[in-house]
Amino acid sequence: MSTVFCRGCGQPVTAVATSCPNCGAQQATPQATQRKAEGALSDKWVKRFALIQKAGGAKLPALGKLPMSERLAIKFNILGFLFGPFYYAFLGMWKRALTMLGVGLSIVLIGEVVLKAVGAHQSLASFFMAGFFAGKVNLDYFKKQILNDNGWW
Ligand SMILES: [Zn+2]
Repeated sequence: MSTVFCRGCGQPVTAVATSCPNCGAQQATPQATQRKAEGALSDKWVKRFALIQKAGGAKLPALGKLPMSERLAIKFNILGFLFGPFYYAFLGMWKRALTMLGVGLSIVLIGEVVLKAVGAHQSLASFFMAGFFAGKVNLDYFKKQILNDNGWW
């Protein structure tokens, strides 16, 4: 059985373990380890997915128990912020890229109306949209790679 090193304490643990027997830290899922072995996932994504597991999976029920830095690592992806739907497409999530583009444009349109009504600068709407992508992309990629769920239709 292959061995990896614990993210928490650095001790060797089996590659299929979901938590460290030594310190209890959550490890990457067997699926993530498998995808990495296939060359489909980088270390960065394996670490992100381990954090999502730590937060209780794609719905993040235990997100509030995590330290701020780990919450940010899950809920903010800078490439998602900058490139939005294009980053989705880059990651092979075409269906979601199109859906998200539609959702993103709606956010901008509604956002501009609301911002205008309250007298705030309308370009803020684009920031809301970018923030929306930044917060979703890690979870959606988790669903694709780990849960084999790559879109809604
Ligand atoms: Zn450990």
